[in-house]
Amino acid sequence: MRRLGLAFALLAALLGGAESARADMFRPSKDEQVQLGQRAAGELRKKEKVLPENDPHVVLLRRVAARILKQLPEADLKPWKFSFDVIDSKEVNAFALPGGPVFFYTGLLKKLGTEDQVAAVLSHEITHAIRQHWASAYADNQKRKLGLTALLMIFRADRAAFDVAGVADDLLFTLPYSRKHETEADMVGYDLMTAAGFNPQGMVDVFEILRKATSGGKPPEFLSTHPDDAARIRRIQDRIKKDSRTFQPQVPLPWEAEEIKPKAGK
Ligand SMILES: [Zn+2]
Repeated sequence: MRRLGLAFALLAALLGGAESARADMFRPSKDEQVQLGQRAAGELRKKEKVLPENDPHVVLLRRVAARILKQLPEADLKPWKFSFDVIDSKEVNAFALPGGPVFFYTGLLKKLGTEDQVAAVLSHEITHAIRQHWASAYADNQKRKLGLTALLMIFRADRAAFDVAGVADDLLFTLPYSRKHETEADMVGYDLMTAAGFNPQGMVDVFEILRKATSGGKPPEFLSTHPDDAARIRRIQDRIKKDSRTFQPQVPLPWEAEEIKPKAGK
């Protein structure tokens, strides 16, 4: 391990001094992010059972998304290509691809009870896209890979170890966001959803719902920094406490309301 540490230090010294240039070199441009996201979204739509645009889940998702997008300044809308799709699957998850395509699984929509909760997830995912979190995670990953490659060259003097494999499609889905990015997605997401008139309690609810729904399984994107959940919830609750605005009560989802109706009639 000590040899590895020394090699990393050497490498850092070799590569140091041009931090910003390197960051640029490894960072996909905005246009590249859009292209990658569009390509991956196209593949997903072919591979997965995507619900038609007149499906009530899709109609609702797009209506809530439109309200949120309206809050974004013009500068934040370009050059992104937003789209909002629902995949028919039991998986309890939602995610944004680089550049704007957002996918929700019916498994998640059915766990949520209100439009405000849907808005919380959407605002969070939209923030990942506009703040280019994927591009940052990608750049970090590439820097690590270069470090590893150079290490292998130092220790083995083996040129075959120099693997310049391109962007694997699954890299789009497997790169974890940092806690910093999750916090930013929560905080900017809070601003977006509340500016659009949604009740921020919906965001706190989502954490509770997801924690219950996915205990033991693979955490959904929203909970990708799992150990930090409690701190994230507290941060949102603090903001709610300090927020001087009054919010409308949360609006139940139409399908949720239908389920409640018979009970209310008793
Ligand atoms: Zn996230």
